[in-house]
Amino acid sequence: MSTTQGAFDAKFEVDPANPHKEQCWANSQQLSSINRHPGEQVRIEFPRANTNTKLGAIFTVSPQFLSDPDPKRVILGKRIENLNNCQLSENACNGQVKAQIMLDGLGEDDEPAKSMSEFIEKLHEVQNHKLIVLAPHGGNIEPWTDVEAEYVANRFGDSASLWLCKGFSSRKPNGDSNEDASERWHITSTQINPESFPKLKSIIAPTPNFEYSIAFHGWTEDSICVGGNPHNPDADLKCDIRGAIMKALEEANPDIKVHVSPCPDGNFNGDSSDNIVNRLGTNAIQIEQCKIARTKYHDKIAQAVVNAIGTRINV
Ligand SMILES: [Zn+2]
Repeated sequence: MSTTQGAFDAKFEVDPANPHKEQCWANSQQLSSINRHPGEQVRIEFPRANTNTKLGAIFTVSPQFLSDPDPKRVILGKRIENLNNCQLSENACNGQVKAQIMLDGLGEDDEPAKSMSEFIEKLHEVQNHKLIVLAPHGGNIEPWTDVEAEYVANRFGDSASLWLCKGFSSRKPNGDSNEDASERWHITSTQINPESFPKLKSIIAPTPNFEYSIAFHGWTEDSICVGGNPHNPDADLKCDIRGAIMKALEEANPDIKVHVSPCPDGNFNGDSSDNIVNRLGTNAIQIEQCKIARTKYHDKIAQAVVNAIGTRINV
């Protein structure tokens, strides 16, 4: 499907009151015309003022449709502050909704996605389905998580698959980052829909088909929390990973607390069966990390995870 076929013209508005910030609301026929349904992700695009560039972002289609007389009306959850920079025409922010969330032809390399402030999906699948390592929010969304995932997967060569996404921030005319990767590209792990992520779709099955899955994330708490499936058959796994990370940080920075779930913020336990990590692995681990842990100790943490999981998959 080409991007022009899978698109409709839209007039964007933001609903500041709606708590579902990553959702969008649109006309059902318009969505059907691009073969997108509630719970799937779509790409939105609009022109930015004073540039000749377009800004892209991903939203999840809300289960509620708009029955507005104007079929072009699309309401976005309030997270893109840059909608303020939309180049208005006829007093409206006119753009497009597209079925395909990634631009055609970008591939898996950081360039040109980085220079275009775009979003990419990357998959390395090996036949052995022992382990898959994930970083759904790599690039500038949750920095260093993709580096950690790649580190772990690389250590296991033919014994580990890797799936990650990277989203990049846009830049100001002077080259400074707008720090907008998270508000444009972050989709909560329980909402990631394989219908919108073609590489993910190629490896996912109705029930988890990897023995182990490990997802790296970043959060705004000042600690690390090891969560995931609360019913992992490998019941020691969570504590073993926590212990390995604690040991790795013992000398480097013992001030960073390392928890196992329940996490200090219970929304990040990674325990939902809808969480992508739990849909892929029978034994599923989600690691939430504060910024300093990712920035300064990403290699130590990744190696700790390698140590904890290594004995389990090298049988
Ligand atoms: Zn995340």
